[in-house]
Amino acid sequence: MEFISPAIIKRIAAEYGFQFKKGLGQNFLSSQEVLEEIADAAQIDGGGVLEIGPGFGVLTNELAKRASKVTALEIDDRLIPILNDTLSEYDNIKIINSDVMKTDLKSLINEEFGDERISIAANLPYYITTPIITTVLEGKLPLNNMVVMVQREVADRLRAQPGTKDYGSISVLCQYYTVPELVRIVPAGMFVPAPKVDSAVLRMRFRESPAVEVKDEGMFFKTVRAAFSLRRKTLLNCLAANFAASKTDLTELMSSVGIDPRRRGETLSMDEFAALADVLTDFIK
Ligand code: SAM
Repeated sequence: MEFISPAIIKRIAAEYGFQFKKGLGQNFLSSQEVLEEIADAAQIDGGGVLEIGPGFGVLTNELAKRASKVTALEIDDRLIPILNDTLSEYDNIKIINSDVMKTDLKSLINEEFGDERISIAANLPYYITTPIITTVLEGKLPLNNMVVMVQREVADRLRAQPGTKDYGSISVLCQYYTVPELVRIVPAGMFVPAPKVDSAVLRMRFRESPAVEVKDEGMFFKTVRAAFSLRRKTLLNCLAANFAASKTDLTELMSSVGIDPRRRGETLSMDEFAALADVLTDFIK
């Protein structure tokens, strides 16, 4: 494949009479430099990679140079013949015409890569960024890294720290399973067609084990969601609205782990959420 530029993307589209579908998040990356940075950030090192949404195959091309095998899921069947042409020089790429949200990723990874731990790399379709990331994080998949292009504000939320405006339950979910790092900001003008907002490349490096040890993971995430369920309300009110326990009992439980019930949920650290979830687990049992 040639050195990617906006002119090349436009030329491929014109050659195949391809019309970009906004509803499928089809903003194709047109910077060779950024494509190489994403592929490098995935730290593939001859291993396997799963790509979501290959488009014209510009990222797939860079991944295939670094991987033993790339499996790519593309929902738009108009792109399959184009991909067969643009990626014809490789024999380590498999394109599957399917919807990532309707795919059992655990089974797919097992079928495609066996017991190997792989990486995911994607310039994600923006209309389903959060559901895809949540599904991957919660899916307990055998992953080393997930490197994704997302809207800049989504990258900010995923790596946000306690007490900041961007900190939310998705920050805790992301940081429980991974260590997120900003790779770079990507201006809207680097895509064809250009989206409305700037983007960012984020690497999520999967931890060997979660960031904190908890008695019951379900209760941990229920506690986190409860804490963020009512913005600008105290943690006590948030918990009272989500758990079948009296405010007196909840106040006592919070105090037992040194958490002031008047605090806001968005100020709690991962360790504090874990301590709170553990006392709630014991109490509710
Ligand atoms: N990888 C290409 C690039 O970097 O230029 C294209 C990225 S574009 C932002 C998103 C791609 O995801 C498009 O090719 C789109 O057709 C595809 N896509 C959208 N929804 C999808 C879904 N549910 N499952 C799989 N692919 C999807």
